[in-house]
Amino acid sequence: MMTRFEIKLAEHYGMCFGVRDALAAAEGVARERPATILGQLVHNEVVRERLAAMGVQDGELAASRAPTADVIVTAHGASDRDRTRWASGGYAVTDTTCPLVRKAHGALAQLVAAGCAPVVIGKAGHVEVRGLTGDFPGAQVVLSDEDVAALPFAEKIGVVAQTTQPIERVGHLVEAIRRRHPSAEVIFKDTVCQPTKARQTALRDLCREVEFVLVVGGANSNNSWELVEKARRLGCRAERAARPEEVKEHWLYGCGTVGVTAGTSTLRDTVAEVVRRLEELGGVRIPDTGGGRPAKGEWERVA
Ligand code: SF4
Repeated sequence: MMTRFEIKLAEHYGMCFGVRDALAAAEGVARERPATILGQLVHNEVVRERLAAMGVQDGELAASRAPTADVIVTAHGASDRDRTRWASGGYAVTDTTCPLVRKAHGALAQLVAAGCAPVVIGKAGHVEVRGLTGDFPGAQVVLSDEDVAALPFAEKIGVVAQTTQPIERVGHLVEAIRRRHPSAEVIFKDTVCQPTKARQTALRDLCREVEFVLVVGGANSNNSWELVEKARRLGCRAERAARPEEVKEHWLYGCGTVGVTAGTSTLRDTVAEVVRRLEELGGVRIPDTGGGRPAKGEWERVA
């Protein structure tokens, strides 16, 4: 028997302006000439397939050769060192780095210029974090209390965050750094981006009203998994699906209301397709939810 349930969309969800602009720039180049993306433009398989269908090839930021004369730096950014290496290798570089990732780079550079030992709160190995630390090889990356316990002393410590980190975790770790080295001057620049904050806050509100949260997002999308984990911490069951076919019927058993949100690299069309799939499985969308409205200023380009 089909389960009946209500579907409620988060107030803010899905693709941010940084990903939207990066995708538009990459598609613009691909329409004109062959191009290679240095890594995944965004961590979303649906977007990746769309670019592959346009003939965009895959490359690696850390490499020094690509199959086409045009290369594209992704929204996650790159170190100046990597960017320069590609340009001086004779490649035409289209840089789709999100302005808010650039802002995080600038914040870290300012802290280092002010004499701080640089610390990045983020996931070691993530492409954005590699870009942030690439020009400051001494930078420490922390994501847990254990990482903070291993942090060496410095008189001045400058802290930034990966743009998609949960705000509560960042606050917790900044305080942990202050407690770890009470005699150090710890300067924190909040570089978690506004679209991430808006989606996390909207998820908290959503979790007050639903039993189960479905996050529409890529399998290797850090911010989509962060949304899953946050929903679970808030007491909801939560799962992730990149596309409608991945939605499992048994996830919905016993749910009166299902909440839907999406990572910042997820196309609005994909969310709509997943909602249609939920409707086929017995869901009824609550009207006037999930405007998906951007937070104030979210869609404006940031200089
Ligand atoms: S998640 Fe934030 S930093 Fe990343 S592309 Fe989107 S707006 Fe830019």
